[in-house]
Amino acid sequence: MSVVGIDFGNLQSKIAVARNRGIDVICNEVSNRATPSLVSFGNKNRYLGEAAKTQEISNFKNTVGSLKRLAGRSFQDKEIHEIEKKYINADFVDERGQVAVKVQYLDEERVFTNTQLVAMYFTKLKDITSVELKIPVSDVVISVPGWFTDVQRRSVLDAAEIAGLNCLRLLNDTTAAALGYGITKTDLPEDKPRNVVFVDIGHSSYSVTIVSFVKGQLTVKSTAYDRHLGGRNFDEVLVNHFVEVFKEKYKIDIRSNPRALFRLRTGVEKLKKVLSANTQAPLNVESIMNDIDVSAIISRQEFEELSQHILNRIEIPLAQALQESGLSLEDIHSVEVVGGSTRIPSVKERISKFFGQELKYTLNQDEAVARGCALQCAILSPVFKVREFTVQDITTYPVKITWEKIPEIPDEESELVVYSKYNSIPSTKILTFYRKQQFDIEAYYAEPDKLPTGISPWIGKFSIKQVEPTENGDLSIVKVKSRLNVHGVLSIENAHVVEEIIKEEKEEVSESQPMDTDAKPEEASKPAVKKVKKLMKKGDLPVISVHGGLDKAVITQYKELEAQMVVSDKLVADTETQKNALEEYVYDIRSKVETTYSEFVDPAIKETFVKLLNETEEWLYDEGEDSTKSIYSEKLDQLKKYGVPIVERYREAEDLPRAENLLRESI
Ligand code: ATP
Ligand code: MG
Repeated sequence: MSVVGIDFGNLQSKIAVARNRGIDVICNEVSNRATPSLVSFGNKNRYLGEAAKTQEISNFKNTVGSLKRLAGRSFQDKEIHEIEKKYINADFVDERGQVAVKVQYLDEERVFTNTQLVAMYFTKLKDITSVELKIPVSDVVISVPGWFTDVQRRSVLDAAEIAGLNCLRLLNDTTAAALGYGITKTDLPEDKPRNVVFVDIGHSSYSVTIVSFVKGQLTVKSTAYDRHLGGRNFDEVLVNHFVEVFKEKYKIDIRSNPRALFRLRTGVEKLKKVLSANTQAPLNVESIMNDIDVSAIISRQEFEELSQHILNRIEIPLAQALQESGLSLEDIHSVEVVGGSTRIPSVKERISKFFGQELKYTLNQDEAVARGCALQCAILSPVFKVREFTVQDITTYPVKITWEKIPEIPDEESELVVYSKYNSIPSTKILTFYRKQQFDIEAYYAEPDKLPTGISPWIGKFSIKQVEPTENGDLSIVKVKSRLNVHGVLSIENAHVVEEIIKEEKEEVSESQPMDTDAKPEEASKPAVKKVKKLMKKGDLPVISVHGGLDKAVITQYKELEAQMVVSDKLVADTETQKNALEEYVYDIRSKVETTYSEFVDPAIKETFVKLLNETEEWLYDEGEDSTKSIYSEKLDQLKKYGVPIVERYREAEDLPRAENLLRESI
C-alpha cells in the first residue's frame, strides 16, 4: 500500500512518498522533482505534465494550465474570464454549469470540464508515483489552499476519484508545512505553546497561518490570504514593463501576438529568478515576432519599484492573521517561509520587517507541503508507524444552515450559523428540528463577501425525507447530524427521529454519599426512584443531498472515459516504443552484419537480409511512419528470424575461446 502526499500547485506539483527510511520527494520521468501542472491534447494522444510542457508553444491552443485555479469554478464566474483567461489559451465553454475547455483532441473538437482536466493531471501524478514505487498507487493526501471553498474542494476530491486515487484528506497547504515542522522538531514544549507563522507564496496565491505547537500536537490559530498574490503577478509586472519597452525600442506590440506574449512571459519568469540572486538581469528572446530578436536589461531596484503595489499588499494578510490569532508580536517564536515566491528579496524583507525578526528556512521551501501531505497520509494509513501527532485545523469561512419556518412554531428562527469562522475541522454538529413532514435545509457560507469572487455562497441542499407526526399527531423531534469533514467539506451525515419517553430510573446511591441519619432503616435501604425524560432514537430518515460536487453517475462516466483515454495513451506510447525498437534494430544489425557479424553469415543470406533491412527502413519513412503496434512488432519478428541465428553463431564463437580458457584455468 502506498503512502503519498501531493502538493497540487498551480504552476507545478510535487510528490512525496513515505518509505521505510522516511519521506522522499520523487522525480518524474525526466528526473525533475516538480511536474508542470499542465495537460495538452494532440491528434493521437494526450500529453500530461512534462510532455505537455514541451507542447506549450507548438500546441498553444490545446495546452491547458492553471488547473488549480479552474477547479470547481462555474462558467458564470467572472474571475475565470477576467483573470484566468489571461493564462489559458483554450476557449472556455459551459458544461453542466462548470467551466470547461474546448480543445482539438484526436482530430475532433472535444470539451472537458475543469474537474476532468484536474483528473487527467492526477492520473499522470499517479503514474509517476507508481513507476517510482513499483506498486499501484491509491491512498493519497492532496494539498489545497485554506481558502478553497466547498465546491472547489469537492472538485479536487472528484478529480482524485476519477483518476482512481483514494484521497484520505485534503490538507490545507500551510497546515501541511506546519505538520512537517512539528513532527520533526523534537524540542517542542510540553505546556506553553510555541507559536510559529507559516507563509507560503507560490505561483498564484499567498497564504499565512499561525500555528501553536505543543509536544505531539499542532493547533491552527488563524489564517489569512491574498488569493491574487503570487509569482505570476510579479511576472505580469515585468511583462507590462517589457511590452512598453519593446513598443518603444522595436516598434512591436507584443500583446497583439499571443505566442509572443507567451514567450515573453516565459522569459520574464526566468529573469525574475535571476533577479533574486543578482542586482540586475538581462532578457533576451530570439525572434519574438516579425523575426525580431529582443533584448533588454533591468535592475532589481527597478523591478522592486515596478512591484510596489504588490509588495504593499504583503503586510495585509500578516496583520490580519496576527490580529485574529489573538497573539502579539512578542508571542511569535519564529516565521517559516515556503513557496517559490518567498525567494524574492523584497518579499522576504517585507515579511521579516513586519514580524521584526529574521525569517527561518527550517523547511525545504519547495517541498515542505508535499512532505507534510505524505506525513499526514502516513498518519492516516495503517502501513507506517509514525510518531503520534495531532493536527487541529480550522475552517476559513463560517457556514450557516437555513430552513423554512412552519406555522406551528411562528417564532422559530430560520437560520443558524452552525460553524463559525475558525471552527475546528473535522467537526460534527447536531441540529434539532420539530417537524411533521419532510423538509429541506440548505447550507450557505454565512459571509459571501469573504469568498473568492465568483464563488456562490450556496453549499448544498439536503432533503430530510419520511418525517411523520408522532402517534398523537404532534411534531416529531428530528435530529440532523451535520459534519465539516477532514477535507473541509460539509455533509449531512444522517437524520433520525427521536422520541421523548418518561423513564423510571433508580437513583444511584453511592457509597460515599452520607446516609440520611433521620431516615427509617427500611426506607434507607430502598433505592430512590425518579422519573426522567429520555430521548430514544426511533429510526433513520433518508437524506437526499444536492451539492456543488459531481453526481455519482457523472463521476462513474468520467472515470470510464478517463480509463479509456489512459488505455489509448498507453497504446500510442507502446506503438511509439515498438516503432523505435524496429528502427533501432534495422540500424544496429545492418551495420554489424557488414562488420562484426560478417563472417557468421552466409553471403547469400546476407544479401537477402540486407535487402529486407533496407526495405524496412524505407517503409518506416513512408507508409510505416504511422502504423500499428502489431505491424511494427510483426516486422521486427520477421527481421529477427534472420538476425537472431547470426547473433547466436557469433556469441557461440565468442564464448568458445572463453570456455576453453576457463577449462584450462580449472585444470
Ligand atoms: P501555488 O502555491 O500558487 O498553487 P505553486 O505551488 O505551483 O503555486 P511554487 O512552486 O511554490 O508555486 O512557486 C512557483 C513560483 O515561484 C513561480 O512563480 C516561480 O517563478 C517563483 N520562483 C521560484 N523560484 C524563484 C526565485 N528564485 N525567485 C523568484 N521567484 C521564484
Ligand atoms: Mg504551492
